[in-house]
Amino acid sequence: MRGELKIYNTLTRQKEVFEPIDKSCVGLYVCGPTVYSDVHLGNCRTFTFFDVVYRYLKFRYGKVRYVRNITDVGHLEDEERSEGEDKIAKKARLQQLEPMEVVQHYTNGFHDVMRQFNALPPSIEPTATGHIVEQIKMIEEIIANGFGYESNGSVYFDVQKYHDTFKNDTNLPAYGKLSGKVLEDLKAGSRELDGQSEKRNSADFALWKAAQPEHIMRWDSPWSVGFPGWHLECSVMSTKYLGETFDIHGGGMDLKFPHHESEIAQSVACCGKSPVRYWIHTNMLTVNGTKMSKSLGNSFLPHELFAGDHELLDKGYSPMTVRFFFLSAHYSSEVDFSNKALRQAEKGYKKLTNAMDYLAKLEHNGAKKAKNETEDAALLQLCEKCYEHINDDFNTALVIADLHEMASKINAFFNKQLDLNGISKSTFEAFAKTFKDFITEVLGLKNEAVEGNSNNLADGLMDLILEVRSEARSKKDWGTSDLIRNQLKALNVVVKDGKDGTTWSVD
Ligand code: AMP
Ligand code: ZN
Repeated sequence: MRGELKIYNTLTRQKEVFEPIDKSCVGLYVCGPTVYSDVHLGNCRTFTFFDVVYRYLKFRYGKVRYVRNITDVGHLEDEERSEGEDKIAKKARLQQLEPMEVVQHYTNGFHDVMRQFNALPPSIEPTATGHIVEQIKMIEEIIANGFGYESNGSVYFDVQKYHDTFKNDTNLPAYGKLSGKVLEDLKAGSRELDGQSEKRNSADFALWKAAQPEHIMRWDSPWSVGFPGWHLECSVMSTKYLGETFDIHGGGMDLKFPHHESEIAQSVACCGKSPVRYWIHTNMLTVNGTKMSKSLGNSFLPHELFAGDHELLDKGYSPMTVRFFFLSAHYSSEVDFSNKALRQAEKGYKKLTNAMDYLAKLEHNGAKKAKNETEDAALLQLCEKCYEHINDDFNTALVIADLHEMASKINAFFNKQLDLNGISKSTFEAFAKTFKDFITEVLGLKNEAVEGNSNNLADGLMDLILEVRSEARSKKDWGTSDLIRNQLKALNVVVKDGKDGTTWSVD
C-alpha cells in the first residue's frame, strides 16, 4: 500500500482520505443498468471507471466485495413523479415478449460488452426481482418508523416528514444534501402537475406501486398486488450484501437525484444510519456537448464503434482504444466524443503496448548499485507518481501521462539512447513491475495484439494438425487419421472432409 487514497466525496463535496470500515474486505456498490435496451457508450464510460475503482481497491487492499445490481423492475418512465410505465414492461409489451426475456437478452448483451472492455465481473450481481421479499420488509420498517404511508394500495415515502425530522440532525444527511435540491423548490416545481393526488406531497416518491390490471410484472404484498419503486432495490440490496453502512457507492451523476437522494432517505428512515461513507459520481460522455442518452437519440452502441458503423465515425476503434479513451480524462470531467480524441487514444494505447513488448525483450545485466544515479532516481520517481496520481481521487488521466513518460524511458533503453545497465537491478525491477501493474491490473488495459496472436496461433496449429492428418490418410494410416479426428472432437473441434479439402469449426 503506497500513500493515502483520497476520494472526492459528493456528499460532503470535498476530497477525503479513504479509510475502509474493514480493511480485510472493502465494500463497493454501483448502480447497474436498467436492462430494457442495449447499454450505450455513455453507460460504458461509467461502468469502465468503476471497474478501475474495483481493480485499484483490490490491488491495494486485496479483498473487495463489489455489488452491481441489475434493475429488472420498477424503473418508471417518469421517475421524478413516480409515474409512467415500467421501462421493461413497456418493452415486453411492444415486442410481445415475456418481461424476463427482455431482461435476459439485455443482461447478456451488457455482460458481453463489459467483457469486451475487459471489465471484471462484480462479486455479486443481484436483481431487483430476486429481492421482492426483502423490499417488502424494508417498506414495512419504513412505515413502522413513520416515514411511509399507504394510499390506494401504493406506498409512498413521506419526504416532508423525513425533512422535518432530520433537518437539524448533524449526524444524518438531510433531504437534498447529496443533490443540493431544496424541498420547497421541488414541491413548487411539481405542484400543478396531474396524477399526484395519491401522494400527501408532490415530492413524495413510490416505495410500492399498486399494479393496474394490464400491468404484467406484479407481486403480492400487504398493500396490493403491485411492484416496488426503483430506488428501493438499491437500498435493500446494498444493505443486504454490504451492511447498513458501507464504504463506497457509485453511479453516474445523473443518478444523484432522485435515485441516490431517495436511497439515502430510505436507508436512514429504515436503519437510522447514513448508508454510505463515500459517494462517487461520474461525469457524462457527451456528443457535441450534449449528454449521450438513448432518449435523445444521440447514443452509439459499443459494437457500432468497434466496427466503425456509425455516421459520426471515420473508422472503427478497438475496445482497448475506447477503454483508453475513457480513462484519458478524469472521471469528474465531461468527455466529448470525437474521432480526433479516439485517434489520439489509439496512438496512446499503442505506445503503451509497444513499450510492454520492448520491456519483455530488455535484459538487465547491471550491478546492484546504480552507475547513473540521476536516471535511477528519475525512474523511481515515475513509479511514485503513478501511485500519487491514482491515489489522488483515481486520476487516471495523470496516471496515463506517467505511463507515457515511463514508455519513453523504455523506448530509450530499447534503442540504446539510455544505458539500461547504468540503472540498478532493483530499480529496474520495481520500474518494470509498476509499469506492468498499472497498465494491466489497475487500468485493466490488455494487449489486444497478443490476443490476436493467440487466435493466429490456434489457426496455425490447426493447419499443422490437419496437414499431419492428411499425410496419414495419403499413406492409408487410418488409425492416426481417426485418432486426430476423435481427439479434436473431444475438444469440440469438428473436422469435415469435403471435395474441396478439409475444413474445421468449433462446435
Ligand atoms: P441507466 O441504465 O440509465 O440507469 O444507466 C446506467 C449507468 O450509466 C448510470 O450510472 C448512469 O448514470 C450512467 N450513464 C447514463 N448516461 C451516461 C453518459 N452519457 N455518460 C456517462 N454515464 C452515463
Ligand atoms: Zn441504484
